[in-house]
Amino acid sequence: MNLFTLKHQEGFARAGIIHTPHGEIQTPAFIPVGTQATVKTVTPQELLDTGSQAVLANTYHLYLSPGVETIREYHGFAPFMKWDGPTFTDSGGYQVAFLWTPKEAKERSSQVTITEEGAVFRSHIDGSKHLLTPEKSMEIQDVLSADIIMAFDQPLSQLSTREKQKDAFERTMRWETRSHARWTELQKTREHKQALYGVVQGETDPILRRASLDFVLRLDFPGIAIGGSTIGSDPQITADALDTIVESLPSGKPVHALGLGGGPEGIFEAVKRGVDTFDNTSVTRMARTGLLFLFPEDGGGIHNKFRSDVHKFSPTDMAPISSVCTCMTCKTFSRGYIRHLFVNNELLGGRLASIHNIHYMNTLMEAIRTAILQEKFTHLYDNWLKK
Ligand SMILES: [Zn+2]
Repeated sequence: MNLFTLKHQEGFARAGIIHTPHGEIQTPAFIPVGTQATVKTVTPQELLDTGSQAVLANTYHLYLSPGVETIREYHGFAPFMKWDGPTFTDSGGYQVAFLWTPKEAKERSSQVTITEEGAVFRSHIDGSKHLLTPEKSMEIQDVLSADIIMAFDQPLSQLSTREKQKDAFERTMRWETRSHARWTELQKTREHKQALYGVVQGETDPILRRASLDFVLRLDFPGIAIGGSTIGSDPQITADALDTIVESLPSGKPVHALGLGGGPEGIFEAVKRGVDTFDNTSVTRMARTGLLFLFPEDGGGIHNKFRSDVHKFSPTDMAPISSVCTCMTCKTFSRGYIRHLFVNNELLGGRLASIHNIHYMNTLMEAIRTAILQEKFTHLYDNWLKK
């Protein structure tokens, strides 16, 4: 069975199916992030109820805690967290380089030493020293046991000079070659095969992006992941970055955008350019701060009008967050009550908001999938934009 089946294409936007040993993913799809083997505050059953199809966990975090030997006992992070469906892990490369806030990232990057061998870094938990190499990333991801795993790369963003970026770019190709070799070796003894995605770097530089994609295609990775800070920011910059390679993306391989941001507009722009899946931590992070996604029918469109601050609701507002949303939160609770939970820092607030935001994302993606199959993707985008 092929990893990816293309069902229909409208322009470069595509609807398809990713086949994994733990089930199918209908694409385009949003993949919720379960950094520490938990999508924060949400149970696996609730993830299913919101229409989620897969979970992405972070190699860096699970390697540090609970550690590889603990996860090995559970036969992977999915059985550990009791998620039965398809799974992804990232390579750890991004977290090693830039963890959390820009300030922390700056401090941390000064604590990371990159050599040809790999990245030496200090744990954000206890300051202990670790070496992460392409081989080790593959070995950790083998134990974490996700269906889809990522090659180990060195992110280019935040590297000061063009010279340093070029260095990192070339090193990433060597690291991806080593990732591919170790992954090939590890698959021989696995019951459930893992699909390795090669990471395409190069930000908005068309020459670098194309060279990176050519390299990933030459090594014949089963899937393609698009990385870099240009993917996680402004929709126009994301579009510019993807425009450099959109015409060369193969129809037979799935394409994942790592940490895609930019709200609904960023998603539409990425899907328009052939992205099949993406992960994003801000969906649940924003929920926990009280930022709720709005459907066009609720007066939310795109251009930063797609969300509402729960603190601005009236205390006696009896209406649900959204008049059209079918999530558990909207079917059950009033805006006034959810506001009350947030005002008093009650944990249930962040939980209900997370359920709503994840459900919103999955509803948007389902609408996009249906639209592509009916050749109405452009129409859907225009409608979302207008409202
Ligand atoms: Zn809702």
